[in-house]
Amino acid sequence: MDEYKIAREKMVARLRDHYKISDPRVLEVMATVPRHLFVPEALKFQAYRDNALPISSNQTISQPYIVAKMTELLELTPSSKVLEIGAGSGYQSIILARLARAVYAIERLPVLAEVAKARMSEFAIKNVTIQQGDGSNGWEIYAPYDAILVAAGSPTVPKPLLEQLKTGGRLVIPIGDDPKTQVLFRIVKEENGYRSEDHGNCSFVPLIGEHGWKNS
Ligand code: SAM
Repeated sequence: MDEYKIAREKMVARLRDHYKISDPRVLEVMATVPRHLFVPEALKFQAYRDNALPISSNQTISQPYIVAKMTELLELTPSSKVLEIGAGSGYQSIILARLARAVYAIERLPVLAEVAKARMSEFAIKNVTIQQGDGSNGWEIYAPYDAILVAAGSPTVPKPLLEQLKTGGRLVIPIGDDPKTQVLFRIVKEENGYRSEDHGNCSFVPLIGEHGWKNS
């Protein structure tokens, strides 16, 4: 048994009882992925707390609730093909990998892209492909996707992501005029347009790129 198993179980109980995450597959996968191995050594003891934590390059690993909520909203099945924008530490990528058939992940910062790739090898994850680049353009060659998760806040919904979604597909993305605060939206592509749902306030680092915030 790893020394963080009890902390991880408490985190999952909080996700279920307080945050009302109800998809048993999401709760199960959150109970198995060792989040403490994705944060800096000095912050390991905080890994299962109810908040985001800094990783390298001034970026963050998202709050467990946000990871679970976004994953639940994607409604993944074992045949889903997923695009993830902002791989960061690789934690969310592994959660997605365990619930979907294939995950294509883009990370803007080269250092983090390398770290995330190394994590996939460490965990023997074979169904995640990670590339360094600007994810606000999506990843055309693997499109269309059943689900797209954007783990960084954007001023508007990047058009390429809408275009790369299958009919019936779900895009989960934080949108806000302020680079630090957003509203979490789920956008569902329907036969005749898009349906969008508001899932509450959130706070992400900015999506920097052609269809996000400009790097100043
Ligand atoms: N989900 C990640 C995890 O589990 O560690 C955390 C993601 S962190 C909140 C957001 C990430 O988005 C950062 O690593 C940042 O470098 C990245 N990012 C920002 N703009 C991006 C872009 N245009 N394309 C790809 N990644 C981007």
